Amino acid sequence: MKPVAIIGGGITGLTAAFKLTQVGIPVTLFESTDRVGGIIQTVRDRDYLAECGPNTILETSPLIGDLVRDLGLEDRRIYSSEQAENRYIVRNKRPVKLPGSALEFLLTPLFSCRAKTRLLMEPFIHRAPAEMEENLASFVRRRLGREFLDYAINPFVAGVYSGAPENLSVREAFPRLHALEQRYGSLILGQVLGARERKRSGNVSKQNAAKFSFDQGLGTLTDALAQRLKEQIRTGQAIGKLIKQNGAWSLSQAGEHSGVLLALPAFRLAEMQVTCESKPISLSMLADIQYAPVASVVLGFRREDVEHPLDGFGVLNPEVEQLNSLGTIFSSSLFTNRAPLGQVLLTSYVGGLRAPHLVTKSPDEICELVMEDLRIVLGVRGEPTFRHLKFYPRAIPQYDVGYGRFKTHMTNIEEQGDGLFFAGHCRDGISLGDSIVSGHEAAGRIATHLKKTT
Ligand SMILES: Cc1cc2nc3c(=O)[nH]c(=O)nc-3n(C[C@H](O)[C@H](O)[C@H](O)COP(=O)(O)OP(=O)(O)OC[C@H]3O[C@@H](n4cnc5c(N)ncnc54)[C@H](O)[C@@H]3O)c2cc1C
Repeated sequence: MKPVAIIGGGITGLTAAFKLTQVGIPVTLFESTDRVGGIIQTVRDRDYLAECGPNTILETSPLIGDLVRDLGLEDRRIYSSEQAENRYIVRNKRPVKLPGSALEFLLTPLFSCRAKTRLLMEPFIHRAPAEMEENLASFVRRRLGREFLDYAINPFVAGVYSGAPENLSVREAFPRLHALEQRYGSLILGQVLGARERKRSGNVSKQNAAKFSFDQGLGTLTDALAQRLKEQIRTGQAIGKLIKQNGAWSLSQAGEHSGVLLALPAFRLAEMQVTCESKPISLSMLADIQYAPVASVVLGFRREDVEHPLDGFGVLNPEVEQLNSLGTIFSSSLFTNRAPLGQVLLTSYVGGLRAPHLVTKSPDEICELVMEDLRIVLGVRGEPTFRHLKFYPRAIPQYDVGYGRFKTHMTNIEEQGDGLFFAGHCRDGISLGDSIVSGHEAAGRIATHLKKTT
């Protein structure tokens, strides 16, 4: 059998390639840079362990644990500390703990009495018509009120999408919220009643999912995949052209393949020239998918130079608070082994759709912007003992209103049955867990296709 070509060596492409080899289907994985892992990039420097890209995997599906087990990494997985359940949101420039129970909600200074009363009305608000595609800001204002949008959803969206609630589609970016409203008529009721159903499916909501990394960071996972696929990986090979002729796919200077999986960012998919049995397949519409720019700033400090107890996952900065950064993860509180004894490690994010211009500033300027925030919010004194910056000019795709047309385009191409498949963060969800599931499921679709056609 000719191998399947996997294009893109991020977590999606690696997972798909590994899954296919597990069922005896030969693969070749092409990666344009000199390393696999894509956005995942762990840096070890002087006993600090910095994650430039993602920090944690949310265990939302049993398929994620299966991958860890199949790679023999269960002993190296570390779950986030118990205190990481605490999350802070800035109000009046101070970090306020997000309430974790009904009682804490009633007592929290994060929301005014008016906002709390408004939230209790949620179960009585009518559901929107099923066919309506609403943006997140309008959905939250309608169901939960303005203050909840400003002090809960706006910072949360900055933390996850680096995006804007006014643009994101509830149906595409938060399908669970959309489904809860449609199914139960209320997010609060759906939260309670839907729990039993999720338990049956084995899936866990993002909010309740366990968070993990590995003893040597998330690079452990991509290194293990690379180790397993060693012979099948071709780095330094940017693929720009795909031609199918006489039933086989050929890639620019890379031989013939029985099928192709594209596990690429949308802006790279859009550049791909594809011809199938002399007919062009255009992917150029995918250039319209908007990406948020982000700079990640990892800083180390002496413990005594940080006033805040850092007893949580991190702190998010609502836009209305007018700070420079989107928020900060307390990396050394989340997982052990992130900073030398007596030091702490903080990872802050700058930019997003809220302030894309900041990502064009110099590393020193960005660092100073973050330091300004850390002094105000966490009571940081003195200078950092460690610093690592990474810029992502196109970091995270925005599942804006109308995004469905991009997914439909990719699905329609797959369904033509030519052996061209799509997976990854611009198709199946933006989290690492989504990417692992996406790679796994794409491998399944490819295996089924090959069974039918060979
Ligand atoms: C700053 C940041 C923080 C994040 N934090 C989290 C987090 O804490 N938790 C979480 O769940 N998710 C997080 N995410 C999201 C998560 O990291 C991504 O969704 C996920 O890594 C996407 O993986 P992927 O394989 O789909 O894409 P990518 O990682 O982008 O991989 C695509 C690969 O394709 C290669 N490529 C591009 N063009 C070509 C070509 N023409 N030929 C061959 N190869 C090509 C690229 O070099 C790259 O290696 C974060 C994202 C960012 C940017």
